[in-house]
Amino acid sequence: MATPFKRDVTTPALYQEPTPHVDKDNPFQDMMERFDYAAELLELDNGLYKYLRSSSRIHITSVPVVMDSGDLEVFQGYRVIHNEVLGPSKGGIRFAPDVHLDEVKALAAWMTWKCAIVGVPFGGAKGGITCDPSTMSPGEIERLTRRYTANLLDVFGPDKDIPAPDMNTNEQVMAWLLDTYSMHVRRTEPAVVTGKPISIGGSQGRREATGRGVMTSTLSAMEKLGLRPGQCTVAVQGFGNVGSIAAQLLREQGCTIVAVSDVSGGYYNANGIDIDAAIAYSEAHGRSLAGFDGAETITNEELLALDVDVLAPCARENQITSKNAADVQAKIIVEGANGPTTANADEILSDKGILVVPDILANAGGVTVSYFEWVQDRQGYFWSLDRVNRRLDRMMRSGFDAVYAETTKYDVPMRIGAYVMAIEKVANALRLRGIYA
Ligand code: GLU
Repeated sequence: MATPFKRDVTTPALYQEPTPHVDKDNPFQDMMERFDYAAELLELDNGLYKYLRSSSRIHITSVPVVMDSGDLEVFQGYRVIHNEVLGPSKGGIRFAPDVHLDEVKALAAWMTWKCAIVGVPFGGAKGGITCDPSTMSPGEIERLTRRYTANLLDVFGPDKDIPAPDMNTNEQVMAWLLDTYSMHVRRTEPAVVTGKPISIGGSQGRREATGRGVMTSTLSAMEKLGLRPGQCTVAVQGFGNVGSIAAQLLREQGCTIVAVSDVSGGYYNANGIDIDAAIAYSEAHGRSLAGFDGAETITNEELLALDVDVLAPCARENQITSKNAADVQAKIIVEGANGPTTANADEILSDKGILVVPDILANAGGVTVSYFEWVQDRQGYFWSLDRVNRRLDRMMRSGFDAVYAETTKYDVPMRIGAYVMAIEKVANALRLRGIYA
């Protein structure tokens, strides 16, 4: 029988600000703080608590690559499977210089919660390689991808663990992964990876899916506050696959996108930025907005503090922290990125009455269409863009409504409502399946 909830793992008191006011920059700790809060609200029994806070499997692998110079370089690769209770594990692979185990563990757990919220039958996983792809040639990136895949051949599989793109990985990287896996298993296996090019089994609408989900989540949040898109100003941090598409689609809905940013800095135009022109400019200039003349330049900190209706952080982790959260003026924050707000910042935003649509809901559009892609690959029957988008919109909206209902029921911020809903779903499935002994 379940024992009453009693935490036997030492964790800091919930939302207690350390003195001086500093944020941990460990995404795993941040994730665990929210998890603990939700687990307590749910009175999750101690055994399930311990189960769900642990990663199911952690793979760390050395990835040797012969560089173009002829030198041998060895990279560190990770694949963390957080949970497989609801189905095969699912999650992207990122290439970045600061990829580390705790980050990948947090991202894997977020995938578990994200899949549970939108109701796709997957568990959570994440992969990464510590490397700087901006300094690597396409050939080096291809060899890196292929060797990482070969090293993890027993981990991946359409019924086991299904990777996808994430930071600095794209359709081409997924195509190399698909090819390497397929060569080893001696048959073409499109369902082993999602986010691949349409011509080799990718889905219509997958590339735009995360940005589209950010758009529908924003509209749902606006409805809750009685705001109409035509009256709303929006600032978008990050102009990659998520931020640029979210900005474009919100513009199409009538919003005025007054600011965008990328690694080159922030761009502000009170009359609204021409997003199509900004996308065209960035594509023509090596995916950088540097020199874009449709706006004046601002700093990243200025962008986060703009007096706008909606702020959409679509770049990366730890952007809104205890140091700058008090400056945020937006009414709504919609998290296109994973983990852009630290746990300490959450409390400040909540005190200010800002409606935060959390990452595990707001950016779940990507994995939702990944699920559609996996279904299509397995059926060998491909859907129209219209069908993909209609189903995505429906699942995002019902995910939002379900999270909002938990939020109201427990009188907590939406992030905690989202965790409560996700943990409850996975815990219920775990209770039904029981523990194999
Ligand atoms: N990397 C994306 C995410 O963080 C997509 C994952 C997937 O489609 O499996 O949600």
